[in-house]
Amino acid sequence: MSSEIINIEDIFAENVFTLATMQKWLSREAYEEIENIVEHGGELSGKTADIVAKCMKDWAVERGATHYTHWFQPLTGCTAAKHDSFITHPNKDGKMFLEFKGKELIKGEPDASSFPSGGLRATFEARGYTAWDITSPAFIKEDAVGKILCIPTAYCSYKGEALDKKTPLLRSMEVINEQSLRLVKLFGNTQAKKVIPSVGAEQEYFLIDRDLYLKRPDLVFAGRTLFGANAPKGQEMDDHYYGCIRERIGAFMKDVNIELWKLGVTAKTQHNEAAPGQHELAPIYETANVAVDHNQLVMDTMKKVAENHGLTCLLHEKPFAGINGSGKHNNWSLTTDTGVNLLDPGLTPNENIQFLLVLACILRAVDLHGDLLRQSASDVGNDLRLGADEAPPAIVSVFLGEQLEDVVKQLVETGEAKHIKEGGVLETGVSTLPDLLKDPTDRNRTSPFAFTGNKFEFRMVGSSDSIGDPNVILNTIVAESFCDACDRLEAADDFDMAVHDLIKEYMTAHKRIIFNGNGYSPEWVKEAERRGLPNLPTMLDAVEILTTDKSISLFEKFGIFTKAELESREDVLYETYSKTINIEANTMVDMASKQLIPAEIKFIGQLASTVNACTQAGVPCDVERDLLCEVSGLLAEMRSALDTLKDSIAKAREIEDHKESAFFYRDGVKVAMDALRIPADKLEMLTDKELWPIPTYADLIFEV
Ligand code: ADP
Ligand code: MG
Repeated sequence: MSSEIINIEDIFAENVFTLATMQKWLSREAYEEIENIVEHGGELSGKTADIVAKCMKDWAVERGATHYTHWFQPLTGCTAAKHDSFITHPNKDGKMFLEFKGKELIKGEPDASSFPSGGLRATFEARGYTAWDITSPAFIKEDAVGKILCIPTAYCSYKGEALDKKTPLLRSMEVINEQSLRLVKLFGNTQAKKVIPSVGAEQEYFLIDRDLYLKRPDLVFAGRTLFGANAPKGQEMDDHYYGCIRERIGAFMKDVNIELWKLGVTAKTQHNEAAPGQHELAPIYETANVAVDHNQLVMDTMKKVAENHGLTCLLHEKPFAGINGSGKHNNWSLTTDTGVNLLDPGLTPNENIQFLLVLACILRAVDLHGDLLRQSASDVGNDLRLGADEAPPAIVSVFLGEQLEDVVKQLVETGEAKHIKEGGVLETGVSTLPDLLKDPTDRNRTSPFAFTGNKFEFRMVGSSDSIGDPNVILNTIVAESFCDACDRLEAADDFDMAVHDLIKEYMTAHKRIIFNGNGYSPEWVKEAERRGLPNLPTMLDAVEILTTDKSISLFEKFGIFTKAELESREDVLYETYSKTINIEANTMVDMASKQLIPAEIKFIGQLASTVNACTQAGVPCDVERDLLCEVSGLLAEMRSALDTLKDSIAKAREIEDHKESAFFYRDGVKVAMDALRIPADKLEMLTDKELWPIPTYADLIFEV
């Protein structure tokens, strides 16, 4: 074990061009211009852009950077970057000077015809532009390729249409800021100049041995196992959750933390998760767009560091059947620049009128637009997880906890909340242990959208997905409710009376969205249906929510998306779905044809020889014969399922319309995939381990 001393204070953000670093490197004038834009928005002057670019380059080069890149987040959900070195044409003496100009900092023009645009950008006008997001600091990434200065950017088409996850997020942050300021002003807060959505994303992941990973084409191509019988042990003993972290994993976590701290990511919590091989990392919450960028860095860093440790980090939502999959909890709150968290109920929430109005607005937002929230958390992998007794159901509801639910009940029934349920004291019964103050809200792990003290925790998001979309939706739908409330309260003669009535009205109209019970139970599905709450079980059921009249008018009202942008996103989602399932299906065909079936033929050959030999020798061989029949029967089943799958893929490929194709992949191809897996997994349980051609679940999950 190394005894090297890590000083977090020294290394934290050493690879980030933070405001503090800028202050050191820039002239006072230039720094103040930047600071002002970060705080209040606006555009950088050309002159200052040149100064900033030069300083940024000098700072990066001093740290060994050779290239810069506009780092952006296209609709693939990953990050993209093209590296440009700082070198310029040598002068006549052959001397070369490094250069980075203001216009290169502010704007880029990646040849981006290969990124998904959903028809927004025809190939003949393939221009796409990246623009510096000045509110998210530039940083240096250290990879095998060298040190690259990364400039976080938003990515738009020639006509300014958003082609990425960042642009709508920045738009939605401006909108929630504007509407929140209206709201706090109504309560007499005129000092606040800005309200920021804060986000903390807990990230779950699996680690497996890299050599074993490379022996599984399904993991390599699809990121999840497409075959595999359960290991004798799963997660039933609950011995992995919060359990002792093994040395190899510990070494990985240590390096991930160091890398992240250097990038200014506040990696804070780490622990083993419920499933064997599964872990979690959570940073401290920060401004939404920075949190979105940082979550991408967390995922990138995990993958890179895992490789250095002979491991592979799986971010897929469901790498293994039969044990828990992975998600992300998106913790969200709203804070003023004067330090007030609008979601902080204080000690007496029943008397905190501003909090009650905010709460009522959020209930209204989630009730009116729960379908959009659900859509924002859907991706192909998450279909295997949501509603499967390990993750929230696909039905959106709100968990408030006993105390707040009681406050809402009183408000709805009488228009006033006169008292609150106290948390009380939890007696430990041991004289040397302190008695603990009980939290008034218990935790409910089954709720998709839970109030947890001073924030809402949106728990549906998939582990591999960007948290951009969910935060766009949260910001927008809450802004819409704030706007509705402010329109009415600003026009009221008697504010106190009006706010009292409005809280009661919203809570009464939208209380059906509150559910404090067990979200995993089948009764909830029935109850939710009775309440009229939407249940969109799969990703494809949710895609078209983006372009309902209700959604279009919401997004257009606040300038988040145009109708064309929404239609393009819808198209990209359908296409992504088909492509993903197509890769999975082809991988299954490949593995079944080239690995599993040949292995079974060998096994059958061995069994048949044994049966023949035994018969000749005149010894009984009923066991061998039975096994031979069973294996041969399953092999025939597998072969026929394989043929069906191949036919299904061929049919799917003929469909040109993206939506129609996606539904065919779901209802045809995927069904055929499931059918192929059944005999294969049964065969795995019957086959000589020496002959089984791929590592098993037991090898993958327990041999780390
Ligand atoms: P859990 O019990 O679900 O693990 P934690 O209290 O550890 O929850 O917090 C999880 C995440 O929530 C962390 O990223 C944390 O920084 C973030 N968080 C805490 N307070 C807030 C807040 N007011 N707004 C947004 N995120 C927050
Ligand atoms: Mg959590």
